[in-house]
Amino acid sequence: MENLVPIFKHPIVLQLSHLFEKAGRKLYLVGGTVRDTLLGEFHEDMDFATDAKPDDIVAIVKSWADNLWLVGIRFGTVGLSKGHLKIEITTLRSEVYIGKTRHPEVTFGTDIYYDLSRRDFTINAMAIELSQERLIDPFNGQNDLIKRVLKTPMGPEQSFTDDPLRMMRAVRFVSTMGMHLSPEVEEAISIYKGELARISAERIRDEFSKILTGRKPAKALHLLLSTSLSGGFVPELSKLKITQDPEYHHKDILEHTFTVVERVEPDLVLRLAALFHDIGKPETKGIVEGKVTFYNHDAAGASIARKRLRALRYPRVIVDDVTNLIYLHMRVYTYRMGWTDKAVRRYIRDAGGLRDKLSALIRADCTTKNPRKMRASLQVLDDLEERIVRLEEAEETAKIRSPIDGHEVMQYLGLAPGPLVGEALHLLLDAKLEGEISTKEEAYTLLNKWAIKKGIKPLIEN
Ligand code: ATP
Ligand code: MG
Repeated sequence: MENLVPIFKHPIVLQLSHLFEKAGRKLYLVGGTVRDTLLGEFHEDMDFATDAKPDDIVAIVKSWADNLWLVGIRFGTVGLSKGHLKIEITTLRSEVYIGKTRHPEVTFGTDIYYDLSRRDFTINAMAIELSQERLIDPFNGQNDLIKRVLKTPMGPEQSFTDDPLRMMRAVRFVSTMGMHLSPEVEEAISIYKGELARISAERIRDEFSKILTGRKPAKALHLLLSTSLSGGFVPELSKLKITQDPEYHHKDILEHTFTVVERVEPDLVLRLAALFHDIGKPETKGIVEGKVTFYNHDAAGASIARKRLRALRYPRVIVDDVTNLIYLHMRVYTYRMGWTDKAVRRYIRDAGGLRDKLSALIRADCTTKNPRKMRASLQVLDDLEERIVRLEEAEETAKIRSPIDGHEVMQYLGLAPGPLVGEALHLLLDAKLEGEISTKEEAYTLLNKWAIKKGIKPLIEN
């Protein structure tokens, strides 16, 4: 309980609690903040519930809040901001039913227990009654939190048919919080996975993104497959299980893929690219002279990923970045033959702003247990990166060349090659570096001044 102190001491929470108490209404902190605070991870992303009706909520907070948002008022939610905080206050539910029609019907109630019973998991079905400073935990959520197990307050069959998105949320908490599913929850997902078809692509996408960028994406991805929930939004994934990868003898492509996902940092673009980087392998598998090959699996994979990410309504920049990374993830290996400067430039151009992510993906992709192969693969990338650095340095130096060269200096001053020409060029380059000159004209003006000081008479009058 001492973990809850940051809530009871929070000035905004205290003020808000006071306002509702004065109005004779109850105010509860609910949902993720309660859960995370019990874990010792208090955050200010706070959701409140109350027995006040939406219009009464508005009346209570109107003069206190900095801003009000009433877009959700039909569903009982009043949004407000106070200082740097954004807060949502929702009238307690008595019935939420998302039928086959997809239209939630909301009726308002006054019973916190009923409201909590309609929430997704026991760990999210706790409330703090603020005026009493007490935890309301009718479904033993605190216990499940300690055991890290996800259970639904009521039967999971009912829960998942009421709102199929909860199945995605279950897998999300596996990834982000290291939870595991109770056997009943896991079984219910296997049975009711098809119900996910009732959920919009955007809402599935948002949960999928959270699953991928969580701490334990591999475990969560395994669950998506073992329950077949993934069939509803990334059907290609299950195909990776059957194809053996000759490079990684004992591992199939699926294991390799999940390893790569976990090895790249939790950035959405990188994690998506890792997940799909070998997705083209099943369809490009061929046998050449008794060896398994996957020619052009990069291009094939990029096109499968594009189709899939579009269907999931990912924003265009994300779709483009992910597919480019997949498309380019094998390019480095053509370097074995040695690259021309032109090829290095083409790589720089094609990778563009994605170069660091591409390097990260390529490194994570080296999962071979054979140390010699590992060193060889990484060496290729190191060599290429070194070439890029050298090329860019050379081009950088080219950019800071003096606007007039030694030949022009000699011609202008009537000098023979020697230390004076060197001195003049040095002066011009310095001035260019400092940004004092950029055009030929400015260079000649400066050279002229220098020549006069040196007692050299220019041959050509400027
Ligand atoms: P986060 O804010 O990190 O996404 P959260 O648990 O706070 O996690 P929210 O989506 O903010 O999740 O929802 C707040 C609370 O509302 C949840 O903790 C849960 O009690 C309830 N809730 C959210 N979505 C559902 C749902 N689909 N079905 C039932 N209850 C839900
Ligand atoms: Mg939340």
